[in-house]
Amino acid sequence: MVRPCVCVTGSTHGIGFAIAKAFAKSGARIVINSHEADTTAARELGALTECHFVQADLSNVEGANHFIEQAHQRLGSLDTLVNNAGTFTDGDFGTLDAQMFDRAFDLNVKGYLFAAQAFAAKVSGDQQGASIICIGSTNSLAAEKNSVIYDSTKGAILMMVRSLAVSLAERGIRVNGIGPGIVETPLTQAGLDQGDTRKVLRRQIPLGRIGQPDDIGPTAVFLASEAADYITGQMLYVDGGISAQQMSWDAPG
Ligand code: NAD
Repeated sequence: MVRPCVCVTGSTHGIGFAIAKAFAKSGARIVINSHEADTTAARELGALTECHFVQADLSNVEGANHFIEQAHQRLGSLDTLVNNAGTFTDGDFGTLDAQMFDRAFDLNVKGYLFAAQAFAAKVSGDQQGASIICIGSTNSLAAEKNSVIYDSTKGAILMMVRSLAVSLAERGIRVNGIGPGIVETPLTQAGLDQGDTRKVLRRQIPLGRIGQPDDIGPTAVFLASEAADYITGQMLYVDGGISAQQMSWDAPG
């Protein structure tokens, strides 16, 4: 069964948009979000379902509270929060500074926690089937060179999912994560378009292709559904097999 009232942070494009679209197709009413004014996504999704847009900067507590407050007002109640808004700021280890650290942690970690807190406060005692889904990464599990800040934020999400799951279970709120591998979005586009990058990456992905945002959306719908009612505290990697793979004795083809 579809849980009807869903809000997704950072959902005007990329993975968040695809997640919102998958919920819209499943029959849910949705609230989407960005820190920037953007009505294009809401118009497109509005053709599929009741869709509201709330502008809010999820990198600060006030923005997270405002988003949940507005989402609750527009839909009347909330069943599912998807914490997705995230950024990638990194570089050579010696060049990292406190500003880069704060920028990444404010959105990728603090934003998730305080949106979850505001969401949980809106879930009533007798409500059935509420859940939170946090978008982590394969970087929650394994490190990438020159990605110390991003890896640290995504590692934090792995533990946040577990910690929120055990803390919110007695209130009937499940908490799970999705760990995408490499997905083609505005965040990764420039990097993917450089030289032989796509070819190099494809060779390291067991399923042999770079992920698309629509690979992620249905997983979120599943985790929020009745079919996942006994699943909490888990991170599901949707990565074409990246996280399952060991070093290989074969030379890359
Ligand atoms: P993206 O940059 O393409 O889209 C990000 C969305 O978040 C946009 O709608 C943007 O408007 C919004 N946003 C940005 N800053 C915001 C803020 N301060 N407040 C509210 N909204 C804001 O990113 P994406 O590639 O779709 O990534 C989405 C999530 O998936 C992130 O958490 C990212 O770390 C994670 N992820 C991405 C990949 C990938 O390969 N693309 C892989 C693993 C995990």
